[in-house]
Amino acid sequence: MKQNLIIAIDGHSSTGKSSLSKLIAKNLGYTHIDSGAMYRAVTLFALQNEYIVDNKVEVEKLVPRLPEINIEFRYNPASNRNETFLNHTNVEHEIRGLEVSSMVSPIAVIPEVRDYCVALQQKMGEKGGIVMDGRDIGTTVFPNADLKLFITASAEIRAKRRFLEYEREGKNISFDEVLANVQERDRIDSSREYSPLRKAEDAIEVDNSNLNLEETVEAVMQIISNYTK
Ligand code: C5P
Repeated sequence: MKQNLIIAIDGHSSTGKSSLSKLIAKNLGYTHIDSGAMYRAVTLFALQNEYIVDNKVEVEKLVPRLPEINIEFRYNPASNRNETFLNHTNVEHEIRGLEVSSMVSPIAVIPEVRDYCVALQQKMGEKGGIVMDGRDIGTTVFPNADLKLFITASAEIRAKRRFLEYEREGKNISFDEVLANVQERDRIDSSREYSPLRKAEDAIEVDNSNLNLEETVEAVMQIISNYTK
């Protein structure tokens, strides 16, 4: 097959994009880059510095400090995944919690934050051989990506997946709260002015409402093998 492709995987939150992308990258011997983790790390930085007051982001305080934010991914053989480091501290666990999840979309609408994250994503992916997942990878980050996929599923199914995940972790959050978070993120991500979530014209849509992770991987590997034939 062609080497060093850039594969863009976009779609709604909680469609399992990251787990899917990680497995696709593994199958192809590629690097997986989770672009959402960057927006999450910036959100954590804003929370740590108390730039989010009463659910409102103090944009004028956060923006000048963006150059001080260092985001890296380091491979952890124990967990067999890339973990996110914010200013040299492992924040992989913290950035997945509800506090960050509920503030990440308002952070991701800030144009300066997007420019900062997009530049970092382009740099990390420039050599190819990557699977990058996010919301605007096929439209903005790599409009010339070799292959673009758009993953979606119904909001209820996505909320259920996230809810079960929280439950497994022993977190006490109601299904309605999780569903509200999923819907609110969809709304903000799709309606933002700057680089909204939308399917690229040349992206292939995969609805995984009725597919588990393994079946989704299979469907996507089939698409990739047709593409690279
Ligand atoms: O993919 P994940 O759910 O971890 O992303 C967290 C949030 O970051 C999304 O809800 C979205 O607001 C934002 N995001 C984005 N553009 C990307 C990736 C994520 O705006 N490329």
